[in-house]
Amino acid sequence: MIPCLFGNLASRLTDDPTVGWPFLTSTTFFCAVTTSRAQTSLPYRVASALTGGFLGLLYPRNCAGCEEPLDGDGDADRTWLCQPCEGRLHRIAPPYCGVCGQSYAGEVSEAVARFRCGNCADLDLAFDFAVGAYRNEGLARELIHRFKYGRQHALCALLGELLRGALTDDRLAGSLAAGERWTLVPVPLHGRRLRDRGFNQAAELCRVLRRSVGDAFDLTPALRRVRHTGHQAALDRGDRLSNLQGAFALAPGRRLRSRIAGRSVLLVDDVLTTGATAAECARVLVETGGAAKVVVITVVRG
Ligand SMILES: [Zn+2]
Ligand SMILES: [Zn+2]
Repeated sequence: MIPCLFGNLASRLTDDPTVGWPFLTSTTFFCAVTTSRAQTSLPYRVASALTGGFLGLLYPRNCAGCEEPLDGDGDADRTWLCQPCEGRLHRIAPPYCGVCGQSYAGEVSEAVARFRCGNCADLDLAFDFAVGAYRNEGLARELIHRFKYGRQHALCALLGELLRGALTDDRLAGSLAAGERWTLVPVPLHGRRLRDRGFNQAAELCRVLRRSVGDAFDLTPALRRVRHTGHQAALDRGDRLSNLQGAFALAPGRRLRSRIAGRSVLLVDDVLTTGATAAECARVLVETGGAAKVVVITVVRG
């Protein structure tokens, strides 16, 4: 308990979402605060091994899912989750809707791999497509809940890593491999909710993602939520869309806007359910901000 409090305190003091849990897990501390390129360097590996060995004595690594020590067979190289808990995460794999990212059971041929599901067939969405890394169920859902509502801020580093799974979508992977530059934009929270929660989960995920992916992304908080819309859980998709009209605007500042105009934008959030929020954000980015295109990535979809 004391190490947990210490870790959370470290996170708050440094304003760094990746400090906290990694602080406890010691061997991952360097992983979380350095870029992937730096992680491969010899000095990094030596420092990590030495520091991990020392701090590991004080703070043994525990699984973020079951909280058992990560000392089982095959756990030696694991940073966050033991093998059984990793099995409780369900990746979204094809077939999934080529527009909203909703996954479907069964098989599809190559020819129809980019199908558009019935839910979004008649919708005019401002984003090109949305990709979720995991299904919104099981451990993924639990981790997000603990992060957002349980004040387990340090889980952000793990969720940011899970978010990277969305980048394996072949359209995004191909674009990144070709060197296309993307601007990360977090879905904003209204000021009232930001005060209640203390942080914007989407902005924190952007920071982790940018840090782990490195120079491939820019990060710009280009949107703000100008109208509080309350909880939308009880509304269907159509009602959500109309309820959200006018809820978002471009953040002020010419320099900030110049980072959106003509750019490829990756809109980031933790969860995508109906897609109404993402659609309205994308509409503002394209129509007002002049973004060339908007693609949505989330940790979970469903
Ligand atoms: Zn576990
Ligand atoms: Zn769809």
